Amino acid sequence: MIPYATQWIDDDDISAVIETLRSDRLTTGPAVKAFEDAFAEFTGAAHAVAVSSGTAALHAAMLAAGIGPGDEAIVPAITFAATANCVVYQGGTPVFADVREDTLLIDPSDVEAKITSSTRAVIAVDYAGQPADYDDLHTIVEGRNITLVADACHAPGGAYRDRPTGSLADLSTFSFHPVKHIACGEGGMIVTDDADAAERMTVFRNHGITSDYRAREEKCSWEYEMESLGFNYRITDIQCALGLSQLKKLPAWVERRRQIARRYDEAFRDVHCIEPLSVLPGRRHAYHLYVVRVKTDRMPSARRKLFDELRSRGIMVNVHYIPVYLHPYYRRTLGTGPGMCPVAECAYEEILSLPMYPKLSDEEVGTVIGAVLESCRTIGLTD
Ligand SMILES: *Cc1c(COP(=O)(O)O)cnc(C)c1O
Repeated sequence: MIPYATQWIDDDDISAVIETLRSDRLTTGPAVKAFEDAFAEFTGAAHAVAVSSGTAALHAAMLAAGIGPGDEAIVPAITFAATANCVVYQGGTPVFADVREDTLLIDPSDVEAKITSSTRAVIAVDYAGQPADYDDLHTIVEGRNITLVADACHAPGGAYRDRPTGSLADLSTFSFHPVKHIACGEGGMIVTDDADAAERMTVFRNHGITSDYRAREEKCSWEYEMESLGFNYRITDIQCALGLSQLKKLPAWVERRRQIARRYDEAFRDVHCIEPLSVLPGRRHAYHLYVVRVKTDRMPSARRKLFDELRSRGIMVNVHYIPVYLHPYYRRTLGTGPGMCPVAECAYEEILSLPMYPKLSDEEVGTVIGAVLESCRTIGLTD
């Protein structure tokens, strides 16, 4: 079986974790700070705040953006549900913008059309690993008191006009779930150049308490104050030791992902029923996902059939994602439904994610390509 994504853990990762387990700090210790510092440097951002998941990172970003009841945040229709959920956590309302037909990145013209006097944030998603249209998005939010947030969970190691992801928006979030580029088990990070925002998110991840227990220890004091309502979104030193060890390999892993993508691109170049998404000039795609559109003009259920056929051959393809506003929760609470974002809904009928992870061998890439071409023939998409 070939999964669509998986982690890569080596002996040095295991040693790093064991070393932390033998130390006297399992949480809120030196590995957290070391991981934050290394990640800030990697992304070119001034500050990094590590948290317990990518979802917690998005929630903290919404806190930092000042989202509250009555505020709106514009999010793309095609993304993981957490991109929209984080707005609801803060009492705000997600507003869904359609995506571009060629890249499935949030469509700047639809963002502009959906701005109201209540819009306080735009969350761009670097879908599949390709950085969104940041120049256009900056132009749109400029002078409007709107925070631009990058949900860069798909794109560590990516770049836009030679600037790395993490330095492209006011706040950028990352995930360290095992299907993403580097694994902490669970983990997330927010990076920003705004020192005040970083400080508020650091307090937010620790219940809203303004000093951690080590600072109290240093002051020989038991006193602490909860200034605001926060959460326990802390990440452990065990997870950060793993993250730090994995981060060292990230540049090579992004290269490997790009190499695999080039092989897929070549293999499907002349196959008209399999259409990879466009990669725009000036972008360094980090390839969390390799997404193709299975053209349905000749066979309406082609994607479903290809999905089933590939899975029966042990190629665990997947679909990323159903438009978020079609989930029952959003239909029920916001009254959303079909017809809202036609480009996203049409794409959702056609998209398929092929296996993409650095540990995928050249031979396995060949197996996937062969299986896709044979499956297209089996279901009658090609002759
Ligand atoms: C994975 C992901 C998240 C959430 O990250 P977790 O670490 O699983 O909480 C958020 N947004 C996008 C686009 C993601 O892919």
